[in-house]
Amino acid sequence: MTKEDLKKKLDKIDGKGYKAYKDLEGEYEFEKFILYIDHVQGDPFASPSRIRIRVPQNIADFEFSMYNNPSRQVALEDFLIRSVFEVIKKLPSLKGTGHSGDIYIDKGGQQIIKRSAMVVNKDYVEARLSVGLPAFGRRINSSGAKRIFLEFLPQIVEKGLLKKNLNIQDIWLWVETVEDQDYLRSQLKERGLVAFVADGAILPRESGISDRPLKSGNVVPFESPNSLRVKFQLPNRGEITGMGIPEGVTLIVGGGYHGKSTLLQAIQKGVYNHIPGDGREFVITVADAVKIRAEDGRRIEKVDISPFINNLPNNIDTTRFTTENASGSTSQAANIIEAIEIGTSLLLLDEDTSATNFMIRDARMQKLIAKKEEPITPFIDRVKQLYKDKGISTILVMGGSGDYFDVADCVIKMHDYKPYDVTQEAKKIAKEFKTNRKVEGNNEPIVIKPRVPLKKGLEIKGKKIKSKDEDTIKFGYQEIELDYVEQLVDKSQTNAIGEIIRYIADKYVDEKSNIKEILEKVYQDINKKGLDVVSHFYGKHPGNLALPRLYEIAAALNRLRSFTVK
Ligand code: ADP
Ligand code: MG
Repeated sequence: MTKEDLKKKLDKIDGKGYKAYKDLEGEYEFEKFILYIDHVQGDPFASPSRIRIRVPQNIADFEFSMYNNPSRQVALEDFLIRSVFEVIKKLPSLKGTGHSGDIYIDKGGQQIIKRSAMVVNKDYVEARLSVGLPAFGRRINSSGAKRIFLEFLPQIVEKGLLKKNLNIQDIWLWVETVEDQDYLRSQLKERGLVAFVADGAILPRESGISDRPLKSGNVVPFESPNSLRVKFQLPNRGEITGMGIPEGVTLIVGGGYHGKSTLLQAIQKGVYNHIPGDGREFVITVADAVKIRAEDGRRIEKVDISPFINNLPNNIDTTRFTTENASGSTSQAANIIEAIEIGTSLLLLDEDTSATNFMIRDARMQKLIAKKEEPITPFIDRVKQLYKDKGISTILVMGGSGDYFDVADCVIKMHDYKPYDVTQEAKKIAKEFKTNRKVEGNNEPIVIKPRVPLKKGLEIKGKKIKSKDEDTIKFGYQEIELDYVEQLVDKSQTNAIGEIIRYIADKYVDEKSNIKEILEKVYQDINKKGLDVVSHFYGKHPGNLALPRLYEIAAALNRLRSFTVK
């Protein structure tokens, strides 16, 4: 069909009941693009209709070098999403009943993550939009719909998707920055580092609820201590310097309000790439870093937390620990074991969000409460072993206890938002002032037994899986609470996790494969066929998806109350 056919259809249904819009589903050729109307909403209040706009590459005209490797492709796609978003923002409003008149593209926040909202390849550029089809009450407003389809969409293509009308310098900035970020992340392990914070980086954010950079006059740009300064040669930007955090155990110490948590938060987001101008473009962390925190109230399903917790009252088995209501310490232990189960090489902890009894047990407490009365082997007695036996490093914010000096390889002090290397000083103090605490815990190796999910807990017959907001997935009548999964950064990642749980339940949960194996299969599929593959709308507009990490998908499974393992 052509755009003329679409026009005729719209003229025919003007003023009819909203359901008549269903007629529009199909494909339409325009001069410069093909419009796919994949799904038409049932009424003006339902979630908006899904359309795709496909512009042939010979018209869009992006040169191959702008998307010829995975880093560049994600960057160009992200750039085009933002460019379409800007065009939409300037369109006149046709706001009517419910969602009618809305036009929407799923733009990311400060991170650049693979998203389903845009696809660029050798054949075409395709933008996936949601549109609230115009209505007066519950009647079709065809003249509004004609403006959207015949006037606005061509403008979106013209101004948002054709290379000749875009700022070429900005495209290259996006593409080259992301490529440099991925490159730097890929180099960390080789250099014996777990994180890098560039000189000049801006770490503080606008507010507790905004991820944008703090812009007030008193922002202190990051400046590495000389002893920790490292240099990288990036493919596009050339030389860059900054603080390299070595493998092993690193403490971040310093007075209250001196920027400790801000540094750690930047590092935990450093598993993602950031947009130019964010300030954290070159705060880069190994991709498998996991933020660990206490999370009392969460569910735990047969996790072996015995490296940290043993001899609970009532002979509760901690090698297959199950609870509907974890405590601070048991939840923190489970969070660590579950991250190791998927393969993390870096744990990130902040005293602000940790259970004190999980972190330390000092000499006086050891005297008062004998080891056999205390189920917890504190983290301080395992943190070195985790690195020695399993190669798992830790970065820990700890302003409250110097006991950790004994186990730290590197100590960074934050003072007035500037880092200082105080490793030698801390070591000297540790020698002079003994803690007199006894090292607890045996030296038994920490063995993690991968868990195998059962089908039972993932049955989705007739059940809807849907994300409610960034931190909640509705799974039938249950809700999966993800508020404390701090490295989940985008509502569309949450959407994708919902789809992925459905996908693995249908396809890969065979009661033989463990969680990690299952999730790796999903990733192989995504790498082969694109993020769309996990959508139950595959082949059409797949909805608003952004790629989550394995860790966040596992986190959702682990918090699903019906989840069961062998
Ligand atoms: P701490 O964990 O050491 O108590 P925070 O990291 O929570 O301190 O920081 C305290 C406050 O200082 C926060 O409001 C934060 O936004 C602000 N802040 C952190 N780093 C900087 C910086 N480099 N420049 C300006 N303000 C900063
Ligand atoms: Mg703090």
